[in-house]
Amino acid sequence: MNKLKILIASSEAVPFAKTGGLADVAGALPKALKKLGHDVRVILPKYRMVTSDKPLRKVVKSLSIPVGDAEEKAVIKMVAHNQVPFYFVCNNRYFDREGLYGTSAGDYPDNDQRFTFFCRAALKMLKEIDFQPDIIHCNDWQTGLIPVYLSTIFKEDPFFKDCGVLFTVHNLGYQGNFPASSLKVTGLPKDLFSIDGLEFYKQVSFLKGGLLFSQTINTVSHTYSKEIQTEEFGHGLDGVLRERASDLSGVINGIDYDEWNPAIDTDISQNYTPDTLSDKEKNKESLLKEQGLDFKKGVPLMGIVGRLAGQKGFDILSEIIGRLVRYKLQIILLGTGEEIYHRFFTRQALKYPEKFVLNLTYNNALAHKIYAGSDFFLMPSLYEPCGLGQLISFKYGTVPIVRKTGGLADTVFEFNRKEGTGNGFLFENYSSEELLTAIKQALKVYSKKHLFKKLVLNGMNQDFSWEHSANEYLKLYLKAIIKKKGK
Ligand code: ADP
Repeated sequence: MNKLKILIASSEAVPFAKTGGLADVAGALPKALKKLGHDVRVILPKYRMVTSDKPLRKVVKSLSIPVGDAEEKAVIKMVAHNQVPFYFVCNNRYFDREGLYGTSAGDYPDNDQRFTFFCRAALKMLKEIDFQPDIIHCNDWQTGLIPVYLSTIFKEDPFFKDCGVLFTVHNLGYQGNFPASSLKVTGLPKDLFSIDGLEFYKQVSFLKGGLLFSQTINTVSHTYSKEIQTEEFGHGLDGVLRERASDLSGVINGIDYDEWNPAIDTDISQNYTPDTLSDKEKNKESLLKEQGLDFKKGVPLMGIVGRLAGQKGFDILSEIIGRLVRYKLQIILLGTGEEIYHRFFTRQALKYPEKFVLNLTYNNALAHKIYAGSDFFLMPSLYEPCGLGQLISFKYGTVPIVRKTGGLADTVFEFNRKEGTGNGFLFENYSSEELLTAIKQALKVYSKKHLFKKLVLNGMNQDFSWEHSANEYLKLYLKAIIKKKGK
């Protein structure tokens, strides 16, 4: 295969800025593509939270970016990470803020301007640094306008003549919907405000732009790519997705095992491998101590790490937490998100201090300790495009208990006691009773030491590294490029 020139446009990327799995992907995929010999670069906004070991270098002094009637200034900085250039679009007015997209009180009201600015700046930068990509890989609504600009304002521009776009949906629930007046902010032609364009229930949808104007589309698991074509999971866009079904596929995310590997993890108190599995318990001991819980042999620890959002299944967990704590187990939750869950779980932590500990923060090191120290990992998601928590858990010998949806359905398989097959526990329907039944199943297996060890090793011995998925992405890039050239 020819070596490709690839730009990955993403609103977050590890290690610079992260709120969820998108950042893991945008950090690890370019590294895997680079290893395969491609010229891959990443662009993201320069938020306040962006920190770097090496200084960022200014590569473009000033770009003038139209946003509505105004012209805003962008500076482009760059730093190489894992030999991949990461470009940062800088504008303090837009990006020097506490959050990436908003705070716990809600989204920033000018997100339409912020991400119009980002998309336009990304395209303008390419010309300025003379990097002519074969493919732009866009991710989620924040980058949805890039393919729209390429198909309209830049349609006749020879610089982008052969540039295809792959658009990846990491979560269809986040759509970047704005009032109709936002079309003016984008500078796009008025006729795009139509059912075949960006209009979505009288609003402007950046996500819909990405879905309609990219040559190929994918989501982050096969099951989710099918689910989103149904009314139940389509968030109103299932019709659009069904129309584009022949260009839509699913590629499961990988895990960056340089970052997530208990054998070399520097955040955990004791490294371990499948061969030294008994050392895992030392991590449980020190985690419990750090969290102010007693360590008692034979009491399983359940970890939860994730955004406190309805999507993650916290409603059904809330319904049974009072019953759950009556079992011989302990629970540690790490997450931030919606106020309603902050309040609810704070009350539970006060009520059951010996059983349930809550960390309402974003803390990467603690996340590592929870993956390493827990026996089980809970993901009762309402929907889950891919899910990284269960994949990370496998590597750390922590057994996932999940709802059978999206990427969880593609990667977690029920443990069969007789055959010794499977890597976790699942339940079908979004119901607290079914969740509780799955947990009870898990506790039964936990009490049989040899069975539990078999189950743990089944998970640990799987390989979800990025190499396979990176090759799948390359196929989608080529498909997009061929489609673009055919036009
Ligand atoms: P999503 O992208 O929907 O948030 P994923 O399971 O795909 O969910 O990815 C979540 C990623 O974010 C995982 O790497 C998880 O460990 C991490 N994460 C989520 N919340 C926190 C938190 N509060 N502190 C540290 N890491 C977190």
